Amino acid sequence: MKISLPHLQLLSESEWKAAHDRLAATRASYLSGTKGELWGRPASRLDSKYLLTGLVRCDACGGSVYVQSSSRKDGRALFYGCMTYHLRGRTACSNNLLTPMDRANEEVLGAIERDVLHPDVTKTVVRKALDKFRAAEREWKERRQVLHKQISGVDTEIRRLVAAISAGGDIPALIEAVKDANDRREALSRDLAIVDSQQHSDADYDELEKELQAHFESCWKTVLTRQIGPTRQILQKLFNGKRLPFIPMTNVGGSQYEFKGTAMIGRLLTGRTKEVVSPTGFEPVLLA
Ligand SMILES: [Zn+2]
Repeated sequence: MKISLPHLQLLSESEWKAAHDRLAATRASYLSGTKGELWGRPASRLDSKYLLTGLVRCDACGGSVYVQSSSRKDGRALFYGCMTYHLRGRTACSNNLLTPMDRANEEVLGAIERDVLHPDVTKTVVRKALDKFRAAEREWKERRQVLHKQISGVDTEIRRLVAAISAGGDIPALIEAVKDANDRREALSRDLAIVDSQQHSDADYDELEKELQAHFESCWKTVLTRQIGPTRQILQKLFNGKRLPFIPMTNVGGSQYEFKGTAMIGRLLTGRTKEVVSPTGFEPVLLA
């Protein structure tokens, strides 16, 4: 079994902030809906006693993966295999590879907990995202300050010119200079209006960073518990509802499955309320 999980996708600032707000709202409504208990029933749509069914697909035919049970001397063993091959045979799909369920589950979850949800990974992702937003915010503030300074500079200039006119200087030239200064002031005011209308936030980025990190960490701990229901919800979000391809590979070492996918940790923050049963939202179980 081989697994590869390419890059983690980042969200935009507004998505992060929206997620943050939703997180707080979800938590509040969830806690009131469950009398303060942190974990309710998983969404029924996602109900399955097997970790990966419905979340992976056969790469050869695109079909579903089913669970095959077989009796062995040491008891019942469960396998994942291609449903199309199982139901319709080799002419429909040539992938006859069965893989032990326990091992496949461990490979997938091991990769997720190590490469995607490990606090070392999520800390970096959250920090990088928020650093970017902090920098944008700083730039926006600096740009505003510069414009305010330039405007007050022009105002001083206009006052001096007006004073010179009152004192009886070269009137036509002074009037020309006042006009010119007024034009510059208007241009600066327009620039300032544009900057003011741009999106900016007074978010407490330090607080945001802590909360997002705590959320990812509790997702990580949930995966560590290996509880099927909550873990399935996390996987579904990480892969953004796309089914992971289960790629049959044959080489000298024999046959094996390879998984490929892009994990989007930002999706763990999105409450797609229609898909996740209300008021549960997404609230992971914490290890005792
Ligand atoms: Zn197939």
